[in-house]
Amino acid sequence: MDVSIVIPLFNEEESLPELLAWIERVVNANQLSYEVILIDDGSTDDSWNVIENLRSSNSNIKGIKFQRNYGKSAALNEGFKAALGQVIITMDADMQDSPDEIPELRRMVLEENYDIVSGWKKKRYDNTLTKNIPSKLFNAAARKMSGIQLNDFNCGLKAYKNKVVKCIEVYGEMHRYVPVLAKWAGFKRIGEKVVEHRARKYGVTKFGWERFVNGFLDLMTIFFVGKFGKRPMHFFGLWGTISFLSGLLIFAYLTVSKFFFDAIGMTQRPLFFFAILAMIMGTQLFLAGFIGELISRNSSERNHYLIENKLGL
Ligand code: UDP
Ligand code: MG
Repeated sequence: MDVSIVIPLFNEEESLPELLAWIERVVNANQLSYEVILIDDGSTDDSWNVIENLRSSNSNIKGIKFQRNYGKSAALNEGFKAALGQVIITMDADMQDSPDEIPELRRMVLEENYDIVSGWKKKRYDNTLTKNIPSKLFNAAARKMSGIQLNDFNCGLKAYKNKVVKCIEVYGEMHRYVPVLAKWAGFKRIGEKVVEHRARKYGVTKFGWERFVNGFLDLMTIFFVGKFGKRPMHFFGLWGTISFLSGLLIFAYLTVSKFFFDAIGMTQRPLFFFAILAMIMGTQLFLAGFIGELISRNSSERNHYLIENKLGL
């Protein structure tokens, strides 16, 4: 199969028939064999009925219905597991992403040998204040923390080699950072293509202001897990030790200055409290690192390595 189109959706009944008709036009014009996997993320409107109707007239359309709303990441994850195509394309269901981009995205993956090609909504049709400006800041931070040079991490329209989606697990709200997950799994050829973006035609956005808070926290997770996930002690242990030792040094200094140089009483000096704070924090950090190590020793993922090739075995 040439291409799997994976579409997570939550209450998008109005868009679906139009979107699917458009996708069908594009894939037929390019003579691609395809499947469309629609993941209904616990919609409360008529989306699932619409999907059933669409399926009855076109067996390339497949559906997964979640029992409740788990979020876009969960939907993508299930879609990825089910996808059979040589190239996987993800897109949003709200028709903000144009199916016309599918052939070119697929070509880039196959001919230019990209593991991922991410869409870039260079000209965006969203609210400037609540979406466009914050997203510029986010992308700058994400570039810095992940080392991946993308302008638009969170674009719903992306293309993947089949083996990429089979190697990664999209959890929590990590759909914003799928290229980072892929990079962790060893896929380094990450490209970008400017894609057409359109205003939302039906329905409303499913992500409110929490997107900023969650997006930011997930970015921190990405950074820490990527750098220290497998060796927490190297972060916490280091800073814990530094903090504890600096507390100890300050105490030594205070003690010496009191007993040998007759300085005013130890406990009246602000430095005294700073030393206590540093030692307590140091101990806490050290313990956090130690517990982190114990947890990672027990993790079922600890010896899970992705093997690309084998010889003679
Ligand atoms: N979506 C989903 N589950 C959710 C929230 C959103 O599957 O819990 C889908 C939604 O239906 C759409 C895509 O994710 O197809 C992107 O959502 P939306 O268009 O609301 O995000 P925005 O474009 O405003 O960033
Ligand atoms: Mg949208």
